[in-house]
Amino acid sequence: MSEETQKVLIADDDGINRQVLATLLKQDYVVLLAKTGEQAIERAQRHLPDLLMLDVMLPDMDGYEVLRRLRADPATAHIEVIFITGMGRPEDEAKGLKLGAADYITKPFNTTVVMARVATHLEVVRQRRMLQHLAHMDGLTELANRRRFDEIYQSEWQRAARHGHALSVALLDIDCFKQYNDHYGHPAGDRALRAVARAARGAMRRPCDVAARYGGEEIVVLMPETDAAQALHVAESIREAVAQMLVPHERSIAGPVLSVSIGGATLPPGGEESAPALFESADAALYRAKQAGRNRVNWRM
Ligand code: GH3
Ligand code: MG
Ligand code: MG
Repeated sequence: MSEETQKVLIADDDGINRQVLATLLKQDYVVLLAKTGEQAIERAQRHLPDLLMLDVMLPDMDGYEVLRRLRADPATAHIEVIFITGMGRPEDEAKGLKLGAADYITKPFNTTVVMARVATHLEVVRQRRMLQHLAHMDGLTELANRRRFDEIYQSEWQRAARHGHALSVALLDIDCFKQYNDHYGHPAGDRALRAVARAARGAMRRPCDVAARYGGEEIVVLMPETDAAQALHVAESIREAVAQMLVPHERSIAGPVLSVSIGGATLPPGGEESAPALFESADAALYRAKQAGRNRVNWRM
């Protein structure tokens, strides 16, 4: 995961406050500015900052309302918010914290204290991201793991159904992998599995395509808004990339080198097949690819 500079959005209608905070925070972070509640929401949606420094008194709506709206939108719900305000009554602070703000700083503020608090919250954000990334990733192949795939599959299927888009799913299984392990050893098997994962990742065409380790030596590739012909093309290029690695496999009944079989299925635009049924179709197609001799792609059109 890249260690990029974290982004802080400052929403304050007072030009001097904005300036002071921006000058402070620019030393360590990318700083974005907003003068109104609407601007704050729009910029939060567009730039997804790691932290929002939010004034309570804004010309168009109060900061509490801004926070409520951010929390209501799944895309911005997780943005960390620190209120920074002249309203120093305990009930104001309590209200802000109850709405889910991480912190509440009253003006006039001490710049060293503000910097320290911002740094603390951003460190928490960074660590949470890292843990989330690890929780979603398979350690051996560095592909998404099964749990992450299940989440993405569900939401992509719903998105496809809602918008009437196509959705393609390909299921890949290494040929005669048990024999590979038996003959070359389990560590060599792990290396081969990692190489197959790299080949799958390398053949994907779009940023929204997802490859995940589905089971032991099974990889699933999900291709949103991709019709059967395009998906078949991707699957074929994965199969080809694996064969071209020319990893010797003396015990394979499919050929002299390591190979994969791939089964796929496409939900056509406006299709009504359920998510589990679509997946089962891909699995059935994989079974047929194995039956037909392995090292091949079989697609349920
Ligand atoms: P087929 O061509 O029909 O798929 O035969 P196969 O031997 O590949 O199929 P099977 O599902 O019977 O065996 C899968 C093997 O994959 C069993 C297991 O030893 C191996 N395997 C599963 N996960 C891992 C892993 O993480 N590392 C290694 N090295 N091997 C694994
Ligand atoms: Mg298998
Ligand atoms: Mg296998």
